[in-house]
Amino acid sequence: MKYKTIDDIDVKGKRVFLRLDLNVPLTAEAPFTITDDTRIRASLPTLLALIARGAKVIVASHLGRPKGAPEEKFSLAPVRTRLAELIGKPIAWSTDCIGKPVEVTVGKLKDGDVLMLENLRFHKEEEKNDPAFSEQLAAFVDVYVDDAFGASHRAHASIEGITHFVKVKAAGYLLRNELDYLGAALDSPKRPFVAIIGGAKISGKIDVIESLRKKADTILIGGGMMFTFYKAKGLEIGGSLLEDDKVVMAKSLIEDKTGANLMLPTDTVVAREFKNEAEKKTVAVEHIQQGWIGMDIGPDSIEQFRNVILKARTIVWNGPMGVFEMPNFAQGTMAIAQALADATALGATTIVGGGDSVAALEQSGLADKISHVSTGGGASLEFLEGKELPGVSALEY
Ligand code: AMP
Repeated sequence: MKYKTIDDIDVKGKRVFLRLDLNVPLTAEAPFTITDDTRIRASLPTLLALIARGAKVIVASHLGRPKGAPEEKFSLAPVRTRLAELIGKPIAWSTDCIGKPVEVTVGKLKDGDVLMLENLRFHKEEEKNDPAFSEQLAAFVDVYVDDAFGASHRAHASIEGITHFVKVKAAGYLLRNELDYLGAALDSPKRPFVAIIGGAKISGKIDVIESLRKKADTILIGGGMMFTFYKAKGLEIGGSLLEDDKVVMAKSLIEDKTGANLMLPTDTVVAREFKNEAEKKTVAVEHIQQGWIGMDIGPDSIEQFRNVILKARTIVWNGPMGVFEMPNFAQGTMAIAQALADATALGATTIVGGGDSVAALEQSGLADKISHVSTGGGASLEFLEGKELPGVSALEY
């Protein structure tokens, strides 16, 4: 895939439309304040590079799920304030992302200045990838830069449509890093290549398992989905999570011996109830009884998984091993996080993607010991599924 990055283009004096993913969590009640500014801070390298090179930067993003009309609780105004603090200079503001307000403020920008547009999703045409709206977004723009990896799996106007109306287009550093890491893992992984897939349901991960089966050497399965596999093997799973309609699929995955080796946990931590304080014990997966719920992988599985992980040279992890939100059932997930950190120290390339595994990694305090933590949950999953991301294809020359 051939695309340019901001290092390949001249931006001095140019009006650069910078699409970021500034979709940060805000408090539910007014005054709406940011509760986690990770995404804003992650956007700084590209923004600061454009400022330093004398671009006139027009920052655009979506926030939340407004229904195609302005709503105060989805305003990017608090994000503008925080971003201005972080870059140490004022940011001009446009109350709309198209039309007169943009034209007026863009006209006043000097080289190195920054303008932020109000939420793109205040117009329903954004998510519809409406061509006329895309053209309006591009009206005062010389260069398009996409650094919103988390939104690149959506064919929206500011991601895809706009690229038809701007001649020069390029990726920012965040997007480039994602494509470099995820792309190298899938196209030319150092082997052994191990994928770890967990989370609640097989249904959400079936495509990624099938895609990685063709690329990885081993796939370690954990999380709630493992019980559907045990059901397929004819085992008793008690009250554990089960997707009845996926049992046949799970059976065929187990029986298919082509591609990566599928490794399932050998033991599990079961609980009487789905709560942190519930009575619990560790059992072999063949000995789950009625009245018990599988909540985490057990110590034998942790050791086996750890051994595989420590021998790997490329590791991709998506989805927690257990109900990690409950401290009593977080051991499996935390141990996998530790194994990834140790593998990284041994020289492996480690990639963690997906909202919940990233949250678990943050909880473990090991995020900075991993080669690459993906910023886009849905986007990284689709990338690993082998799907083409519209936002990435749109940058192609
Ligand atoms: P996903 O979004 O599919 O990656 O699923 C993440 C969720 O899976 C987390 O909220 C975990 O609590 C949940 N999960 C992991 N293991 C289990 C389990 N054994 N039973 C029920 N939920 C689980």
